[in-house]
Amino acid sequence: MVMTKVIKIDPSRPSEKLIREAAEVIKRGGLVAFPTETVYGLGADAFNRLAVLKIFKVKGRPPDNPLIIHICRFNQLYELAMEVPDRVISIVKKFWPGPLTVILRKSSRVINEVTASLPTVAIRMPAHPIALKLIEYSSTPIAAPSANLSGRPSPTTPQHVINDLMGLIDVIIDGGETLFGVESTIIDMTHDPPRLLRPGPLTIEEVERVLGGEVVIPPFARGLMESDKALSPGVKYRHYAPKARMVLVELSSYEDLRPLIMKVRELALMYVNEGLRVGILCSDETISHYKDIRALSLSLGPRSNQFIIAKNLFKTLRAFDEEEVDIIVAEGFEERGLGLTIMNRLRKASGYNIVKVDVGNLAICTRRNHIQAQ
Ligand code: AMP
Ligand code: MG
Repeated sequence: MVMTKVIKIDPSRPSEKLIREAAEVIKRGGLVAFPTETVYGLGADAFNRLAVLKIFKVKGRPPDNPLIIHICRFNQLYELAMEVPDRVISIVKKFWPGPLTVILRKSSRVINEVTASLPTVAIRMPAHPIALKLIEYSSTPIAAPSANLSGRPSPTTPQHVINDLMGLIDVIIDGGETLFGVESTIIDMTHDPPRLLRPGPLTIEEVERVLGGEVVIPPFARGLMESDKALSPGVKYRHYAPKARMVLVELSSYEDLRPLIMKVRELALMYVNEGLRVGILCSDETISHYKDIRALSLSLGPRSNQFIIAKNLFKTLRAFDEEEVDIIVAEGFEERGLGLTIMNRLRKASGYNIVKVDVGNLAICTRRNHIQAQ
């Protein structure tokens, strides 16, 4: 056990003195949890082997799951990457500081502990005043995964970090709730065309517009299962998981939500009848349809606002844990725009426990039943 100091810092008027105090901890090889615009990060000096190893130990993170290095100035990119192709410059100029991580060939300065011995390195410049100042005052790039215990939903509030890491790390900076609530978009720029490794707040459409070309979306980036060999590092582990079991209901089309409501009701009622404490993860449009079921229904927000749905996702998964539900029946979302990010997280959180409803077939089945009933 270590003494964890919680330092409250107002992101709109960040106190230089308090951020310097946290930066001293990084410089000494300690661990600091800090807010970014995506989720909370657990940071260490990226050049300090022992400090980086502590991140893995504290989180219970498998050593072959590499970390992202966070920088605060563009020229740090050249310190960490062996080469920076023009197309990389075009996207980082446009999206940094921001929720974009690029994978590049690593320079010899980057230690194997950070990259899990890969020849590549993940780099991002976050757009959060506290994160940027922390990196600046630490006088070193900061290696940081999300500040949760490995496998748990990423932390979007200081309380989430406290719940997971109190007594395990030196400092938790409380900078309030994070803006996006999902981790950065990761693009592997060592491939041609570039490859999406993880969808995030920045949509693939936006990146393609700036690159002037296609970005490949492998199945694992959509949160679909593949053989271990084909996976990107870190993708093979169960991620974002609530303590409860989770089943995700996906439709072949979300134009009409009635088949979704029907299937979620059917599953939820089945589990209630088994005597389980049931949670229903739903949306503003559908929540009223579950009122009569003895379950805890929580809405992620309106389907018309994917930003809100993404922002509330991890927070809501953790809320189900607090209510100690046994099983969560979750609604799927359309995979367009930020929907790709939302579905990636939901599929992984469910441990790929997915029920697919083919709306075309269902329509036919329903019609047939109707005809028989007549
Ligand atoms: P986290 O910050 O906890 O979301 O984890 C960082 C993620 O970045 C990992 O799970 C990896 O998938 C990804 N990552 C980091 N470095 C690399 C790399 N060199 N190549 C591919 N993916 C990487
Ligand atoms: Mg993580």
